[in-house]
Amino acid sequence: MTIYCPTCNNSSDRVMFIGEFCEECTIKKLRKLIPEVVEVYFCRICGRVRAGQEYYEASNKAIAAAIDDYLHDYGLKNVRTGVESINDSTGMAVLRLHFNIEGAKVAFEKEVRLKRLHRTCDRCLKERSGYFEATVQLRGDPDKIEKTLERMSKFLARYNAFVTKVDRTENGIDIYTSDKKATSQFFASRKLKPKVSYVLSGLKRNRRVYKHVYLLRFDIREKEERTAE
Ligand SMILES: [Zn+2]
Ligand SMILES: [Zn+2]
Repeated sequence: MTIYCPTCNNSSDRVMFIGEFCEECTIKKLRKLIPEVVEVYFCRICGRVRAGQEYYEASNKAIAAAIDDYLHDYGLKNVRTGVESINDSTGMAVLRLHFNIEGAKVAFEKEVRLKRLHRTCDRCLKERSGYFEATVQLRGDPDKIEKTLERMSKFLARYNAFVTKVDRTENGIDIYTSDKKATSQFFASRKLKPKVSYVLSGLKRNRRVYKHVYLLRFDIREKEERTAE
């Protein structure tokens, strides 16, 4: 059965239809629904982008997820966004918008203005306030100590954690880290067995909260035995 588009009168013998409208008219209607400006939150310190409740490195994929959030809040529920390109000097972004209309898939491109709003992410807030959950005391062989600090910093970054502060003392260094779980996973991953103690640091929802203190010595004999590099 041939149907005719109510808007442009094209027939279903000649063009694709999505529901009762031709594909072209459907895209025209959908294109108008997409706002000219989309707002995305970035961390003013680390530059990561917020999607959902988390912050991610600001790749096009993460920015697309942030735009999805904006469009969903805007009332467009059946759309998924891809970012084709972003022009940083003009602030314009070319999006590819994928709609699902009654089971039929329609996609088209639209250029919008990407409005950057700024917040401070949790990680940067903690970093700024000197927040720490664990202290790592490294003693002994200075080379081992420096290598361990470097590896620990890299390891923690992968778990969204960080080194808050490093104090250099006469016989080693004290490292303050933001996440005790990630810190103990670091030791486990390198098969290191520090001495652990716990210091009461306060109450959180009426439960005692402890900071972890790890003490690790690298002496010369251990250095030769531990070839686990
Ligand atoms: Zn039409
Ligand atoms: Zn940040």
